Amino acid sequence: MADCIFCAIVAGDAPGHVIAEDDATLAFLDIMPFARGHTLVIPKVHTEDFWSVDVPTAQAVIAMAHRIAGLHRDSLAANGVNLFQATRAVAWQTVFHLHVHVIPRWDDDSFVQPAWAKPMADPDELATIARELRR
Ligand code: AMP
Ligand code: ZN
Repeated sequence: MADCIFCAIVAGDAPGHVIAEDDATLAFLDIMPFARGHTLVIPKVHTEDFWSVDVPTAQAVIAMAHRIAGLHRDSLAANGVNLFQATRAVAWQTVFHLHVHVIPRWDDDSFVQPAWAKPMADPDELATIARELRR
């Protein structure tokens, strides 16, 4: 798609440090990494976000993310990995070509846990939400 930086990387029209690719996906280093080796996995075909991706493409993206996580363990000696995906601006998406962040973690890295201090839910509320989602 015109004016999409990730499509330009796929086409070879913009620079990217490619780590791996297959028929459906490309994995390359994030230009503003959270951590050394922070990698983005994208479908090669322009797809806006996780709501618009078809299931086979989503499966291919996740399979590539799994491969990259293994590379982080085996080649960078990562002790763990975070996956992150943002769909729509409200969820902090800034590049509107679907991507999954694969972020290697180390025991002594400087990340602090985000402010996800969560109170225990009310069981009745959980039951209500589960009913809403099962529709
Ligand atoms: P998000 O906020 O989930 O949409 O993340 C977009 C990510 O794309 C950010 O982490 C950016 O650092 C990264 N990014 C933006 N432009 C480029 C680029 N040209 N090459 C590599 N990563 C990029
Ligand atoms: Zn694109």
